[in-house]
Amino acid sequence: MRFALLFAFITACLMKSVHSCGCEYNFATSCSDGPTEGAKRLAKHFTERFGGRTEIYNCRKIEGSSTTSLHAEGRAVDLYVTGATGREAFDYAVKIACSNGIQEAIFNRRIWTSELGEHDYKGVNPHIDHVHIGLNKCGAKSFGAAS
Ligand SMILES: [Zn+2]
Repeated sequence: MRFALLFAFITACLMKSVHSCGCEYNFATSCSDGPTEGAKRLAKHFTERFGGRTEIYNCRKIEGSSTTSLHAEGRAVDLYVTGATGREAFDYAVKIACSNGIQEAIFNRRIWTSELGEHDYKGVNPHIDHVHIGLNKCGAKSFGAAS
């Protein structure tokens, strides 16, 4: 009985570490050396589902601001799809966000974060030609690792 409980506990912990990164927001602070494994797997997962091409790593600030972009830490994927497909990819990202460490999605002047939900995006880049999907630090390590 005690072993069964211990086993259940360990399994739950393992499942949590692999499957549930939550969707809390981790700001980027400085440039890393390339794309994270989680972002590479996210790019593959989304292109298999929605087509398009992707870009991940780019050592830069957010356009029109002094805030370091998640792309600078290799934690964001830009998926180049537009129109209804873009909206579908955005909705899908939001749907799976909080169990996979997705902390933000941006498309067509709209942004989703767990804190504020979906609302208008006022950034300089309107994100009409691509969907931006950002991972928190946990997601950047483990997105898609189990599959
Ligand atoms: Zn982006």
